[in-house]
Amino acid sequence: MVRAYVGLGSNLGDREGTILAAAERLGSHRLSRIRETEPWGYPDQPWFLNAAAELETGLAPRELLEHLLEIERGLGRTRNGPRYGPRMVDLDLLLYGDLVVAEPGLTVPHPRLAERLFVLEPLFELNAGLFIPGHGPVGALIRGLQSKA
Ligand code: AMP
Repeated sequence: MVRAYVGLGSNLGDREGTILAAAERLGSHRLSRIRETEPWGYPDQPWFLNAAAELETGLAPRELLEHLLEIERGLGRTRNGPRYGPRMVDLDLLLYGDLVVAEPGLTVPHPRLAERLFVLEPLFELNAGLFIPGHGPVGALIRGLQSKA
């Protein structure tokens, strides 16, 4: 089994219900606090709820990504809107053990993870000792972003 972390987001419909349902379908035993965050990358849309989930998985990284996309579809995600636009649910594979993957269609750690406090903070909450491969300790990354803000 490998310990993986998944980012969850929603800004349409029953945001909290959707995040809780997604965490359950992931088989996550630990979910961070759910926080409200300002939209990023695409203006004029409702605020998001975001959280991170920790799970122990027997799936390979690609299989886990497929599973995330399947859960998104099951919870009503459609892909006809703009990039970074409103969505019922967004599931991102943030970390898969200490593995680094850079392949077409799959990048781990998630490519935008180290730039976003709303992803780093829930990860810190779940595991303050996390090291993000290629970037550094989660606490140091958070302090770095806070000092720029
Ligand atoms: P989006 O939902 O807009 O974040 O984009 C999802 C697409 O990004 C998926 O179809 C994946 O092929 C690709 N992708 C690449 N790396 C990741 C990752 N670590 N987590 C989730 N999606 C990824």
